[in-house]
Formats: sequence, C-alpha cells, structure tokens
Amino acid sequence: MGNFTNIVVGCGLSGASIARLLADKGERVLVIDKRAHLAGNIYDYKDKNGIVIHKYGSHIFHTNNENVWKFLEKFTDFNTYMHRVVAVIDGIETTIPFNINTLYDVFPQTLAKRVEEKLLTNFEYNSKVPILEFQKQNDKDLKFLAEYIFEKVFLHYTEKQWGKNPNQISSAVTARVPVYISKDSRYFQDKYQGIPLDGYTKMVENMINHPNIVLRLNTDFKSLIQKNPKLINETRIFYTGSIDEFFDYKYGELPYRSVYFKFETHNREFYQNNAVVNYPCNYDFTRIHEYKYYLNDKSDKTVIAKEYSEDFENGKNERYYPIENPENIKLYRKYLKEAPKNVYFLGRLGDYKYYNMDKAVERALNLFEEMSCDKS
Ligand code: UDP
Repeated sequence: MGNFTNIVVGCGLSGASIARLLADKGERVLVIDKRAHLAGNIYDYKDKNGIVIHKYGSHIFHTNNENVWKFLEKFTDFNTYMHRVVAVIDGIETTIPFNINTLYDVFPQTLAKRVEEKLLTNFEYNSKVPILEFQKQNDKDLKFLAEYIFEKVFLHYTEKQWGKNPNQISSAVTARVPVYISKDSRYFQDKYQGIPLDGYTKMVENMINHPNIVLRLNTDFKSLIQKNPKLINETRIFYTGSIDEFFDYKYGELPYRSVYFKFETHNREFYQNNAVVNYPCNYDFTRIHEYKYYLNDKSDKTVIAKEYSEDFENGKNERYYPIENPENIKLYRKYLKEAPKNVYFLGRLGDYKYYNMDKAVERALNLFEEMSCDKS
C-alpha cells in the first residue's frame, strides 16, 4: 500500500479520467471501486445476441469541448452517431425537443403554419427557448403551444422522472427541454457526438491501462481505510462517491433519484424505430431504450429496456441523479466545507451536479490543471 501517493475512489468516467491524468504525469495511483465492474454507470457489455447493452441506461457521448473530445479519442474511436429522441404523444410520433418539424407532426397544418410564423417573428432562428420562459408569451397561439408542450411533453414526464412537479425542481433541469426554433431534429447540437466503437467499458479499461495505475474492484473505501488507517493522511484522495457517504452521513443523507430497467428480448429484428422512444404523457415508464441502434449491432433478436424512476435508497438501488434544489445544495456545501486538504471531490456524486459525460471529464481536466498550477 505504501507506494501509492494517490487513491481514486470510484472507477467511473470521472475517476478514470483523473487517474489517467495523474498516471501520465508519473504519479502512482490506486483506483478502487466497490462494484464488481469498472466504468460506473457508463458500464456496457455485449450480451449473448451480440448486442451491446448499456446496463445503466442509454449513454450518448456529446460535447463542444475539443479538449474533452481529444482526451477521450486517445482511448477509443467513436462512431458518427447523432442522437434523436422520438416521443409518442397520445399515439402521435414526433421528435423532441419540440422544433418546427414537430409542429407539423402534432397539429393540423394550418395551425402549425400559423404557429411557425409566430415563432419565427418572436424568436431568433436557431435559438432555444426554455419551456417555462415560453409560457409567459401574450399570444393566443403561442400560449396554446406552451400549454400543449408543458402538459404533453414536460409535466408528466417530469413527475415520473423526478417524483415532483416541475416548479419543485431546478430550472437547469427544465431548461434541458427547450423549444428549438429550428428544423434540426437532433437531441444534441454539439459539434462532437458518438458512441465508443468498442463500448464504454473498453474505453474506461483503456484509460486505466497504465503501468502507474492499479485497479481493485469489490473494494470499499471505508474498509480499505480501516485496514490501512495511515492512507487517509498520507495519500491524496480523489473521491467520486457521494460526499455524505465519505462523512458517514453525519449531517444526513443527500437525496438522489434512481432508475430501474425492465429488460425484454424480442424475437424480431426491431422493436421500435429509434434507439430511444419517450412516453412523456402515457404509461408509468419514461422511455424505452433499444440498444442495437447505437453500434448498429446485427441480430435477428432485439433487446429493449423500459425505464422507470424511483427515489434512491441506500442498499436498494444506485444513485443516478442528484436533486439540485437549494436545500440539498446547502447540505452538500456543509459537507464540502469539512473536506480535508488532501481530499478532492469530483464527479456527479462528488460534486452533487447533474453532469453530462463530457462535463465529468472536463471537471477532471480542470481539477488536474488547477493542481498542477498549485504545485508550480
Ligand atoms: N424531459 C421532459 N420530457 C421528455 C424528456 C425530458 O420533460 O420527453 C425533462 C425531464 O424533466 C427530464 C429532463 O428533461 O428529467 C432531462 O431529460 P434528458 O432525457 O435530457 O436527461 P437524461 O435522463 O438522459 O440525463
């Protein structure tokens, strides 16, 4: 144990990124993860049908940050996948976020045309208007549009996903579903998008495959420290787990939302016409994932997963989404204030932030840079 100067707790994308950056600089790094597999919630595997399954739900990599993209490209090639999300709204198929094409899918043509003209007059082309912002408009048709989207796309999905109504959750979350004044039907507009050609697990394996990195799975941080108490003071610790856990929940638990998946294998080539189909206003599940689309896997069978949301409960399920309301952020900060100098918190759980994958990598790159600056 004595020859490690750094311990990274958690081998998800954040942990693997910081571990690799340190290792490339000649630092010895022990990476531990309490799970039996690496890659955290981006873990994927090929099933017996030859279909790559994202165990913890669909992950589509997208970024505008060239540094992040270049960093990951050292460990994987990406395909040229551009994600679209189909939504079934009371039986009508369209894509979301709402855009000009969507109007023509869901409304009679004359109404769609009128609304299109009003949108183009009132908002800049290619701009994204958050739904809640949109409701403030003083025009009958635009008000109708806002109410329609709110009711049919947003309200019930958000209630299913968060177990709360939209004004109880952060506006950063609601801003994730804007109205896009455009004909671009993609879900993300980022310059770089793709799925790792050999999967996310392989990408993370490649990240930590370095002579200066040792990985120990099935290893819990608290037990490691109990066995080697000196480590807590004598190493730098990069903690990507939840900060309340690090402090033994002494001020209470940080709430998270979790999800679970009901997997089904079907004896036909395709189940639906897109990788992700959202059901914003029907059923109890939020969306259905069909995995073979991501890497164009060939099989006469197909595997789907219906996604359901529930609260995180320690020991029962996994943490997926921090619930960033003022009360929880205050609790997070209370813990952070007590962080020992040699312990760095990062990642969705360590920072208690709803990061996309690129933001998790960006955070690790920035932290590494700050630490290098501190040294010089
Ligand atoms: N959302 C919604 N309707 C949809 C899709 C998303 O209202 O059909 C809202 C919902 O509040 C959700 C948030 O947008 O929690 C973010 O959804 P997204 O699918 O982008 O997030 P992910 O779960 O993939 O991180």
